[in-house]
Amino acid sequence: MDSERATCVSCGRAYPAGRQRCGCGEPLWLETDASEYDWPSDDTTGMWRFADLLPVDPPTGLGAGVGGTPLVRTERLDAYAGCRLSVKDETRNPTGSFKDRGSAVGVAAVAERGDQWVGTVSHGNMGMSVAAHAASVGLDCLVFVPEDIPAERHSLIAQYDPELVTVRGSYGRLYEATVDSPLPVEFVNSDSPLRVAGQKTVAFEILEGFAPDAPDAIALPVSSGGNASAVWKALREARTAGLIDDIPRLYLVQAAACDPVATAYRGGADSVTPVEAGDTIAYSIANADPPSGTRALAAVRDTDGAVVSVTDDEIRDAMSVLSSRAGLCVEAASATALAGVRALSASGEVRPDERVVLVATGTGFKEGTGRATDVVSSSIDVDSFESAVRDRIEGS
Ligand SMILES: [Zn+2]
Repeated sequence: MDSERATCVSCGRAYPAGRQRCGCGEPLWLETDASEYDWPSDDTTGMWRFADLLPVDPPTGLGAGVGGTPLVRTERLDAYAGCRLSVKDETRNPTGSFKDRGSAVGVAAVAERGDQWVGTVSHGNMGMSVAAHAASVGLDCLVFVPEDIPAERHSLIAQYDPELVTVRGSYGRLYEATVDSPLPVEFVNSDSPLRVAGQKTVAFEILEGFAPDAPDAIALPVSSGGNASAVWKALREARTAGLIDDIPRLYLVQAAACDPVATAYRGGADSVTPVEAGDTIAYSIANADPPSGTRALAAVRDTDGAVVSVTDDEIRDAMSVLSSRAGLCVEAASATALAGVRALSASGEVRPDERVVLVATGTGFKEGTGRATDVVSSSIDVDSFESAVRDRIEGS
């Protein structure tokens, strides 16, 4: 389906598709008519199963294989989470994060138009993702990263051979400079309409996994607010289509050291004000001035959800529980969601019998486990192999 208009859910104004920001300052959504939509009856897999709701046709290259990630019922996490928890494992996308859904649509749109340049402003996951998708279809790619990110992240992005540029100065100003820019580059940033369109497919996959029921709540980390915006857009479209009766509550989680959306939520504010960012292990969601923060706030209020923040100790604990009790290796930013669900259960906001889906947004394999390296239980000589195994079985 070709979206011809971009609309503002905040003030109702409409523009020709292609524009990213409304005159009111809020990000635009590509208009989607979901009123006649029904679950696909064919067996198309991955995010293109929902191509009728997307602004581009299914692409070639890396984008063809995005989505269709596992929705894992993680019973061993129920006691910790305080509810019946499932994990939507977005780490299984081609570059290890949910960003691939939006990159697939953004890169496909540029390729369909016959243009050559795509770009992004990113701390890590999104830079990798856009560069990888561009490489797979022969587009040129510009990735702008802050000067002060660790060198390992440069090499993760650089392997896909984009023009990688480090930038001094305000990251927020850099982001704004790319929005509705007159430059001949499609910037597929974290809350651009094309990216939001692609990323909404994660929510359709979750809903289809529960159909004809729906989960009680969906929990995810929030940074720019672009992904929260995408999930909210999907929930609204699903409701318009009659696929769900009750909209799941949307819970957004931030690291306490940098939590502008949670601060606005707690204060009952209508819009998000920038904060002074502190250091956190969940660096990939440490956005002090989130461009779609106000949109994220609107999403939780509309769905009767909440925004909470959690400490780095709580994030570390949740990350360890995800790997040791569910076998899931996620980045710290993703573990915030589990820490947040645990806090919401402790406060009575989430009940033990409720079905909650946590979106594991990105893999931990890019950043290590953050644990000590001295983790080997013991050391044996090969001659004592059999007795060593017996000792451990009997001692367990
Ligand atoms: Zn507006």
